[in-house]
Amino acid sequence: MRQSRRRFIKTALASLAAMPAIFSSRIQAAEEQLIPLQESDTMAVQFQYKDDIEATDPKPSNFKPGSDCANCLLFKPGNNGCGIFPGKSVKPKGWCLAWAPRPN
Ligand code: SF4
Repeated sequence: MRQSRRRFIKTALASLAAMPAIFSSRIQAAEEQLIPLQESDTMAVQFQYKDDIEATDPKPSNFKPGSDCANCLLFKPGNNGCGIFPGKSVKPKGWCLAWAPRPN
């Protein structure tokens, strides 16, 4: 009976030790499954998202020279995610109305 309890505790501890690795890999997999945002996406249109703001002519009226997704506070460099468009990835050279400067 004691050995059975010890075995159970060891198994439980081993399982707990593996949890962070399991969750980490699931979170990473979820982050990798972002769908590229299309300029024609309804929300992208509302936020005037552009894949390449430098190539966009004319520029949106609220555009500030030098601003793009890569230097936006809401950009997630690890997977090109964006806080405004959950589940979608944006282009580092992109831009939208929600652009906010990333603190240095
Ligand atoms: S919020 Fe920032 S990162 Fe997201 S699309 Fe707009 S400019 Fe790009």
